[in-house]
Amino acid sequence: MKTHQDSGFTTRAVHESCGFSENTGAVMPPVYLTSTFENGNPSGFDYTRSGNPNFRLLQQSAASLEGAQFATCFASGVSAITAVVSTLKSGDLVVAEENVYGCTYRLFDKVFSKFGVQVRYVNLADEANWQVIRDTKPALVWLESPTNPLLKVVDIAGISAVAKEVGAPTVVDNTFASPYLQRPTELGATLSLSSTTKYTNGHSDCLGGIVATNDPAWQDKMIFAQKALGLQPSPFDAWLTARGQRTLALRMERHSANALDLASWLETRKGVKMVRYPFLPSHPQHALAKKQMKSGSGIFLAELDCSSEQALEFCRRLKLFTLAESLGGVESLICHPPTMTHASVPREVRHKVGIGDGLLRFSVGIEDVADLRRDIDETLKAILG
Ligand SMILES: *Cc1c(COP(=O)(O)O)cnc(C)c1O
Repeated sequence: MKTHQDSGFTTRAVHESCGFSENTGAVMPPVYLTSTFENGNPSGFDYTRSGNPNFRLLQQSAASLEGAQFATCFASGVSAITAVVSTLKSGDLVVAEENVYGCTYRLFDKVFSKFGVQVRYVNLADEANWQVIRDTKPALVWLESPTNPLLKVVDIAGISAVAKEVGAPTVVDNTFASPYLQRPTELGATLSLSSTTKYTNGHSDCLGGIVATNDPAWQDKMIFAQKALGLQPSPFDAWLTARGQRTLALRMERHSANALDLASWLETRKGVKMVRYPFLPSHPQHALAKKQMKSGSGIFLAELDCSSEQALEFCRRLKLFTLAESLGGVESLICHPPTMTHASVPREVRHKVGIGDGLLRFSVGIEDVADLRRDIDETLKAILG
């Protein structure tokens, strides 16, 4: 297989996941729908739970795009999280950013707590709290940037350096940025984890997860978890993810441009209380976002000056934004955290952490921005007058 180490991001994205087609001339790799392989084959495959040509191609390109030596693919983002946390043992402590993804919180709270893994949640956007890492010397530091749903930006290089002082590995959930916009291992993190379901695949047609690292010991643990815990994707999903990955750069450019356009326009519009987007100067960590990200990605928040019911009605009336969870696909989606992702959180607690009744999370697709803007404008007029 040819490698493209010295090429740019998009060249690598297009070429690194091609191969295994030497005898056919096929420009794109086939899907290897096989559970097992003949013993002694030259590529070293034995059984699909522990490896498949489609995994190998995806892992090679994912590592390359993350700027890391290794990557392991999983069935979903949650599988990737499970793989990382499964390396801990009873009594180990995780210091985690307090605004982690809901399913990450649920895994720690409902599953790994039963095995004695403890988690201390702190606000890692406040540098004063990094002292907790020095004081507790945790087995793992867990962060996300930008966070879901509040789009808090957390200093990956700063926290990774503090964790390194006490020998703690740092995991960054990079799902909201994608490796095109932000590469955690280059910033000093031990592991970069993504739900490839979102931007990397980008077409909302399969689930997947990736963990990238430069540490051979961590790579061994990830390969072990893929096989021993049965966390592997299907060959077809790995193929779809590699297909999506080839256009990641182009899509991220468009997602970011569309989101920046809509967010800055909405910020000036009557009836909109607050807009939050990492690449707007009004974002509290705007300077840090510009330092560690290439652009702002496709997700922004807007809080309408209205009731929860009106906000939901706004979502339902939009024509180009579908009311749905998830993000990162070519199509625009909208989510109302108070009644969807954060419905189980009591209203007072929601308000305290900044999730007001009129809060909306936009996942801006790659459609023509003029159409998206008109859709939002007409719907706002209908709801707020
Ligand atoms: C969606 C998501 C996950 C989980 O990924 P799945 O592919 O849905 O299992 C993890 N982290 C973040 C930040 C996500 O948005």
